[in-house]
Amino acid sequence: MAEGPLVHYNARQLRRVLKGKRVRIEFGVRKLKRFESSLRNLRINDVEAYGKQFRIRLSDERIILVHLMMWGYWRIYRKAETWDRPRERARLILTTGSHAAVAFSAPVVRLLTQEDLDRHPTWGNLGPDPLRSDFSRREFLRRLDARPSYTIGEAFLDQTIVSGVGNILRIEVMFRAKIHPRRKVARLSRNDKRRLTDWTLRLMKKWLEERGREDEWIRVYRGKSRPCPRCGGRVESFRQAGRITYACHDCQI
Ligand SMILES: [Zn+2]
Repeated sequence: MAEGPLVHYNARQLRRVLKGKRVRIEFGVRKLKRFESSLRNLRINDVEAYGKQFRIRLSDERIILVHLMMWGYWRIYRKAETWDRPRERARLILTTGSHAAVAFSAPVVRLLTQEDLDRHPTWGNLGPDPLRSDFSRREFLRRLDARPSYTIGEAFLDQTIVSGVGNILRIEVMFRAKIHPRRKVARLSRNDKRRLTDWTLRLMKKWLEERGREDEWIRVYRGKSRPCPRCGGRVESFRQAGRITYACHDCQI
């Protein structure tokens, strides 16, 4: 699963080759094929990351939304470079004069107007993204406090509360903040929420800046067989909203 930091990293790479460029747009999604002719002679205004979504903004104000889910990935090829992946898996191909950016195996590719997106119950109602410059602590806490009966572990998986946080991040954030994922949102103090927010920002930025060196900060994820790296206590594992969860039985309360 691509968590927010990887999405932001990919968006940076895509911006570098696409932003401001005239582009040929081809879909590997059958029901979008008929729109290709309406997308001729457009430029890419921007490639934005929002949570786990890519929002590719076109010069006619439409947006191509891409979500990689579990299996999708991007590749960027230079002109005339041979693709190292089969063309039939390409779901979206953006070709400029010098590069092709290809989203392979992405389960979600949509062509939307801003209005469609704002009204969309799944794609349009994202919680604040800690890696975006418009991140608002106040809005994050407002959305969190609106779900007092959720456990904090479940709340962090809900993209309408905070977007871009995936399973590894939420487990590590709660470990650093010393908060057990089963604690109810209603039972969090103001100080608990401040620690959760601070660690979310810190770990997401760290992941984005130190991509490929996750070993240096992943401390309890998949750590069930080892003692807690902080207190030596027992690391337990259980499921929350279907996702495997790890937490120290002793120092996360
Ligand atoms: Zn511990």
